[in-house]
Amino acid sequence: MAAPSIVLFRRDLRVADNPALTAAMQAGPAVALYVLDDDADGRPLGGAARWWLHHALERLGGRLAALGVPLVLRRGGQNEQAMAVAESVRAGGLYWNRRYTPWGVRADTELKASAKEIGLKAESFAANYLCEPWQVQTKQGGWFKVFTPYYKATLALGEPSAPLPVPAAQRAPALDPASDRLADWGLLPTKPDWAGGLREAWPAEAGAGEARLAHFLDEAVRKYGTARNRPDLDGTSALSPYLAFGELSPRQIWAATRYAQDADPAKAAGGDSFLREVVWRDFCSNLLYHFPELGERPFQAKFADFPWADDPVALKAWQGGETGYPWIDAGMRQLWHTGWMHNRVRMGVASFLTKHLLLHWQAGEAWFWDTLVDADPAQNIANWQWVAGCGADAAPY
Ligand code: FAD
Repeated sequence: MAAPSIVLFRRDLRVADNPALTAAMQAGPAVALYVLDDDADGRPLGGAARWWLHHALERLGGRLAALGVPLVLRRGGQNEQAMAVAESVRAGGLYWNRRYTPWGVRADTELKASAKEIGLKAESFAANYLCEPWQVQTKQGGWFKVFTPYYKATLALGEPSAPLPVPAAQRAPALDPASDRLADWGLLPTKPDWAGGLREAWPAEAGAGEARLAHFLDEAVRKYGTARNRPDLDGTSALSPYLAFGELSPRQIWAATRYAQDADPAKAAGGDSFLREVVWRDFCSNLLYHFPELGERPFQAKFADFPWADDPVALKAWQGGETGYPWIDAGMRQLWHTGWMHNRVRMGVASFLTKHLLLHWQAGEAWFWDTLVDADPAQNIANWQWVAGCGADAAPY
């Protein structure tokens, strides 16, 4: 039997359209590895994201088992764990899908070097965005700091490649590398169990993301262009946590939307407007890749000495949905209860924090990081800077 390959999973917890998994399984038997690494996102995951991760790993483990790929869980530094597992199964290769955050790039570059040192093949793939950050360039070969030209340049590159199918199942390797038990990671809250609202909002079953996408493309997409401005309607896809953890890929969403548009011209405009938002996701990643200090300092240097207020009481009231402004409070309570908030409400509560209370956008960003099920480093940081007015592409409000 060929030496097994290790597939490193991060924010790509899916079996379809997963080029690293496909390549590993083409090479022979494969072992999947997920490392709970506090540095994976530059800081530990927040509470709501930990809840989501637990269920996403359960879903992933079930799907991988059906393909004959055991899922090994480890805690600690990604690179140490990956090298240890590779050694314990005498792996023939190490495969992963690329990350673009500054800390992700650093860790993965080091991992490639460590693998090379011991003659272990290491291969990485593009999978988590429509384009890689260096693909979308200005005419002068620079990177875009404004969304609309970025969007146009993305479209000019042509349609993204078609998503890969789920690889064919194979016989599981006769290996038993040591693995943690998911339940022992304590990702789910117990004392107190504050996750009741999350459970109501987000079904835990495998296939929930695909079902949500199909449901959205069945009807809501027709009116997305206008309904997406209405927080009182279920007019958006609510796919963000599935995208944030990579349970669905942007290429899958792109292809499914195009298919729906081709079948029904009434979905053409809404579908384009929806895909434009998926390009926003790429744009945020592009900003953090090219401006790696985005989390620490304002994109526009003139805001570096902005006199932010220091008001812990006002911050607490904002966090708890007790500002006395019903619209703001409704959004903050929805966030606490369900781990999600409509984009227009995110913009409203973030404006309120930074422009009305004059509190630092980083305080709001940190709260979102802890409470959003879709918390994503690039999206969260770039959007907070954008709303605060110190980011790329000035907010028009
Ligand atoms: P849809 O309208 O259905 O859009 C489809 C997909 O496009 C989304 O799932 C998302 O992946 C992407 N998208 C939509 N709007 C944006 C946007 N403004 N920026 C980047 N991508 C976008 N999104 C996150 O995924 N994680 C975050 O941590 C996050 N933090 C945010 C913080 C602030 C202050 C603001 C204003 C926005 C933030 N967003 C974040 C972006 C956006 O609000 C959510 O992605 C969106 O509300 C999710 O709902 P949906 O899936 O129904 O979106």
